[in-house]
Amino acid sequence: MIKNGWLEQAQKRESPHADERPDPSDISVLVVHGISLPAGEFGGPYVDDLFMGTLNPNAHPDFAILDGLRVSAHCFIRRNGELIQYVPFHRRAWHAGRSNYCGRRRCNDFTIGIELEGTDTTPYTNEQYQCLAQVARQLIDHYPALTRHRIVGHEHIAPVRKTDPGPAFDWKRFKQLLNDNLTKKV
Ligand SMILES: [Zn+2]
Repeated sequence: MIKNGWLEQAQKRESPHADERPDPSDISVLVVHGISLPAGEFGGPYVDDLFMGTLNPNAHPDFAILDGLRVSAHCFIRRNGELIQYVPFHRRAWHAGRSNYCGRRRCNDFTIGIELEGTDTTPYTNEQYQCLAQVARQLIDHYPALTRHRIVGHEHIAPVRKTDPGPAFDWKRFKQLLNDNLTKKV
């Protein structure tokens, strides 16, 4: 399950883009993201490169603006449901940017960030919904402050600036999957 902040079923790739949370006991919100590099292309190495700090800015014209950008997420779920974890959950990943959750700013401090490989308008895959629901369930069971009501999209905590995971993400479907077998009913 979750050991020392790492999901046992995930492929472990420790990103240098992380630091300490100001309050490691406050892990209380899950943020869902969508990402693809280049936009709309799936399966390549570039999202992984971005999170690991090894993205070659010359590999694609769109990557120039990403040069020097230091970002990460706790987890990345590929189109086939493959799960990769970059940052242990007790540490702070750099995924939210300028953000606001119910009046609280600097959401990286107290959130877990999960990236789905996709775009705002391409339906996410069944494998991704299954994997995300399974991971979310484990996180809710493991972290006392996190509940099923505290799951939001990047677009909700950084409106105007961010649009992911977008209208393609079916919240109702995800919540339904999550509620099946949820042990902690809060
Ligand atoms: Zn995002």
